[in-house]
Amino acid sequence: MDNFFRSAGILSAVLPGYETRIEQVQMSEAVAGALESGRHLIVEAGTGVGKSLAYLIPLIHHVLAEEGRRAVVSTYTKTLQRQLIEKELPFLKEHVFNDLRFALCLGSENYLCLRRLEQTRAEVLFETDETEGFKRISRWAEKTSTGIRSEIDVPQQIWQKVCRESDLCHGKDCKKFDACLYQESKTTGKRAHILVSNHHLFFANVASGWNVMPPFDSVVFDEAHELEDVAADYLGLDFSWHKLKHLVDSILNSQGKGLLSRLQHVGPTAHLEITSVINLVRRRGESFFAELSARLRDFTTLRIREKDFIMNDLSTALSTLADALMVLKASAYDEDEKKEITALALRSEALGLSLRLILQQEMDNHVYWAEKDGKRLRVVATPFDIASILKSQVFNVITTAVFTSATLATDEKFTYIKERLGLLDAGTLLLHSPFDYHSQAVLHIPNDIREPGTDGFENDLIHHLQEILSITKGSTLVLFTSYTLLTKVYHAMKLPSLVLLRQGEGDNYRLVQLFKKNSHSVLFGTYSFWQGIDIPGDALRCVVITKLPFAVPDEPIMEARMEALTMSGKNPFNHYQIPQAIILLKQGFGRLIRTKTDRGAVVVLDSRIRTRRYGPRFLKSLPACTIAASLGDIAGFVGKAGNGVKEDCQGLCAKGAGHGEAQGHALVDKGVSG
Ligand code: SF4
Repeated sequence: MDNFFRSAGILSAVLPGYETRIEQVQMSEAVAGALESGRHLIVEAGTGVGKSLAYLIPLIHHVLAEEGRRAVVSTYTKTLQRQLIEKELPFLKEHVFNDLRFALCLGSENYLCLRRLEQTRAEVLFETDETEGFKRISRWAEKTSTGIRSEIDVPQQIWQKVCRESDLCHGKDCKKFDACLYQESKTTGKRAHILVSNHHLFFANVASGWNVMPPFDSVVFDEAHELEDVAADYLGLDFSWHKLKHLVDSILNSQGKGLLSRLQHVGPTAHLEITSVINLVRRRGESFFAELSARLRDFTTLRIREKDFIMNDLSTALSTLADALMVLKASAYDEDEKKEITALALRSEALGLSLRLILQQEMDNHVYWAEKDGKRLRVVATPFDIASILKSQVFNVITTAVFTSATLATDEKFTYIKERLGLLDAGTLLLHSPFDYHSQAVLHIPNDIREPGTDGFENDLIHHLQEILSITKGSTLVLFTSYTLLTKVYHAMKLPSLVLLRQGEGDNYRLVQLFKKNSHSVLFGTYSFWQGIDIPGDALRCVVITKLPFAVPDEPIMEARMEALTMSGKNPFNHYQIPQAIILLKQGFGRLIRTKTDRGAVVVLDSRIRTRRYGPRFLKSLPACTIAASLGDIAGFVGKAGNGVKEDCQGLCAKGAGHGEAQGHALVDKGVSG
């Protein structure tokens, strides 16, 4: 690997401004070693290590070394996926590995299905208010070279009528096969050495019995701190109003369109019979979800503790529907009709079975729960301890898996992530950020703020935030753990000269763009803003953490995971809640310094980080940076760049602020922990 990364190496010859970073070299060597020895590896690589190149180069080297090798890079966010596909991989192909073939691997529902588009067009399956969207899809279909949904902005309810659905795809028998862009992407994927995927698709692939993606022997999970939740989601079961409605409407929708209206040889008696079964399913579905909605009147999620908590006569109706469809198959006109009838019959049977398994709680080690999210209603079974499933079904099957992120370790150890993902034997490597946090970042924790949950905390929070914003005058990201508190604080702010942007007032991407454009803006966000957003430069000069991000303990999956730890003799607060909150705090902190010229302040308004016994565990996990004893001392760090970091730093010393290190006990010793 040295050939690539050393100062007069391959990268320095082709990448303007390239500087050797020892951490990047260490990571690439560790990844190369893991690939060579067929071991799993966990790497925490702080911001600025350059981890993408550090894993891509050894990975590409590995797959090109032997004919037929293929590897996957899986990300959590689309942003990173895009960066790999549009930037890093094309660069490496052009300048370093000319023979490399790579492809983006998306879930097939992201692709337009020409057969369904034609079918829908012929039947006018769209509701009147969907006509415009449908016309746009038709025009786009004429010219798209990818067929991928992200190219066109249409509502989901329209897209799902024309996208590929695996059980409805006719594959090689399809008359549109040669023109099908999904099939073309599959061929490209099979020829690729590197597939760029996402965690959702990766686990959908696992759940399908490895049938979704082409075979591969190695994988790098970037943004691996998100793996547990995504895996649990895909390895469980759910039954939703949306799934039921989609099935029923595909057979016969409220306008009398669907499979049934297309079948050419169904007599009136058979038509009547199946219509009555569909109506039965619809009625029972409506009453099931009405009951579920009533149970969820005061909750967004609800743990289901008893079997058959709602009477289930819907599974039987779905089974009857499946049988009726199979009878109908006998009168199918051709193979296309047979295939479609069979697919919908199997879907109906599978849905009924899912509902039965969930309501009768027939799966061990699963937590059963219900959720209401706006109009979306569903019942769910989620495995609460996925370590053993991942170990046996995934990590014992793949030769090498590399897990990387800027936030995997807690207390500088990997115990938590190893236990959660079943990776006890994996190698580990902890690489701090090469940025000079000491001169680039300052941390302030006020000592005159009451604890969250006590009387007066909210007033203190509002008061301190008001003070912070009067110093920063914008370019500040304020991170909350609850939308209710966010809204209260937002409305209490009295800062007419600043533009306050609040999560929920537009999509997150647009809010971040507005924030970047206006240096007098303040962005208020909850969990989706703690991670994944990248705001380099002066646009973000201060991050305020309003509360330590402990997950809500009575949320069903969380509660079940904690119960399981208690049963195994472990303290769930120490083994689960604290490490999880540390990882999220590190993510929030990590929003501040994105490049080596960035600088700014992080203010933590949760005094528990100073007063509670677990506080040092949080502080030890943050990058070593300067400590500001008083709020006024952050001023030198939140001013515009260009004044010279060193001078500001010295200025701070001269004012007697003191330079502590937010790394381990150094901070505590310097009196910040109180
Ligand atoms: S091959 Fe499958 S996805 Fe492609 S047009 Fe035909 S049915 Fe649709």
